[in-house]
Amino acid sequence: MHGKQTVIMPVFRDRLGLSIEVAPGIDTDTLGTFTGEVPRLGTIRDAAIAKARLGIAATGLPIAIASEGSYGPHPQIPFVAGGIELMVLLDDERGIVVTEHLIDDAPVFGHAIASNVGVISGFLRQIDFPNHAVVVRANAPADGDAAIHKGVRTTASLAEVIALCAASSRDGQALIQTDMRAHMNPTRMATIGRLATMLCSRLATGCPGCGLPGYGQIGVETGLPCSACGAPSLLVRHRIFGCASCDHSELRPRSDGRADADPAQCPECNP
Ligand SMILES: [Zn+2]
Ligand SMILES: [Zn+2]
Repeated sequence: MHGKQTVIMPVFRDRLGLSIEVAPGIDTDTLGTFTGEVPRLGTIRDAAIAKARLGIAATGLPIAIASEGSYGPHPQIPFVAGGIELMVLLDDERGIVVTEHLIDDAPVFGHAIASNVGVISGFLRQIDFPNHAVVVRANAPADGDAAIHKGVRTTASLAEVIALCAASSRDGQALIQTDMRAHMNPTRMATIGRLATMLCSRLATGCPGCGLPGYGQIGVETGLPCSACGAPSLLVRHRIFGCASCDHSELRPRSDGRADADPAQCPECNP
């Protein structure tokens, strides 16, 4: 629905030799929307798997790819916006679900409240409008007013819908938000392309235990020892690698080679 195939198909073709077709007639908005008319049920991974299942049902093909994103406060950095993008490959022939995700530290994501377009020129510059589209609605909608204007990407239509929504709002203000659908947000689209590359790398890695594709990092273990006292710190000690199919897993050192933590990050030395 949102054109993600433009950044996903070439990567899977060039890296894995997979040819992809877009599943016809699927309305993924029934599984949840960014604008909240349809709440998403379950985790972001559940939602992506449900989308991929629709693709398998619609095409009869044994393998499906789907992606899902979630934007809001940054999961690790206070007062900063962040996004999580997740992509799954479902392979019903091998019985595996291979998942990759990334955290986007610099998404084009934000909102403004205004009674007219003249007061939000700074916001519009910041979100690179009209390259990135917005969604407009009444900031305090009257009962029964659920009008949402999506995909607004001209200055003329923006001025018009802000005036309309402000006039219908109980506080005289319109709410203007970045439209996070991939085809409306080129920054997000590029992020999905990067994620597709990461998923292909994982898929190209066979499990040392069972040989199936989809081996890679599945988590981290904290407790990097303090350089002064040796107590476990909150820093990452090992990366945990695992398989999408069997329970083979292993601990690998940090990718930066760091073997101990500064005492400033030690709960014993610096409580
Ligand atoms: Zn210490
Ligand atoms: Zn395995």
